[in-house]
Amino acid sequence: MRRRTVRQIQRLFALISFLLVTAIVLLAGQSLGVIPQDLLAFADPARFLPRPPQIALISGHAGFDSGAVCTDAAGNVTFTEAEINARVAGLAAQRLRRAGVDVLILDEYDPRLENLDTLLLLSLHADSCIELSGYKAAGRISSSVPAEDGILLACLEQHYAAATGLLPHPNTITHDMTRYHAFRRILPSTPAAILEMGFLGGDQTLLVNDADRVATGVAESVTCYLEQKKAMNEE
Ligand SMILES: [Zn+2]
Repeated sequence: MRRRTVRQIQRLFALISFLLVTAIVLLAGQSLGVIPQDLLAFADPARFLPRPPQIALISGHAGFDSGAVCTDAAGNVTFTEAEINARVAGLAAQRLRRAGVDVLILDEYDPRLENLDTLLLLSLHADSCIELSGYKAAGRISSSVPAEDGILLACLEQHYAAATGLLPHPNTITHDMTRYHAFRRILPSTPAAILEMGFLGGDQTLLVNDADRVATGVAESVTCYLEQKKAMNEE
């Protein structure tokens, strides 16, 4: 009986020694650069945790120019399109992050657009300072994921319109929208759309004073897409 206990203790010591030696060898190997970082990254427990859904928003004109510029009667600049786009992008991202979505906010010509592989890309812009009202959403002319692009546009038509109370203004959709530069840079499998959130002239009260409502419309459209896509995958 006593001999068995001694043997068990010996085995336990052997195991502890083995683990200690392994740890020392691994640490030494890492500091000497003998063990490749890839192998260590492979063993990283974070790899095995489920990744949150990731989407990307372009803050229109960011890092490039100011977009449309609005002035008062005296000709002084009152606000710019880029300012409004950035405010809405920030507020929409805040809402989505609270709901567990990983949001990338990208500049207009962000290098991360190259082969962008996210659940969707939505570019946020606003129209000029003229006295018109309405929003516009457009996707690519020819898409390799037409079903997904269609869902994204349908979600925008439903939820952006509901949250903002704006009507669509489709007759001013231009080639700048359907041939949008970012559409050609992202992975063809990334669903994408560009949203003109309203006119800085006719929709000024909403866009300038009620950015939170505009951001709600954006966030709810994204959530609608993610939910429908998830349901599609589960079918
Ligand atoms: Zn713009």
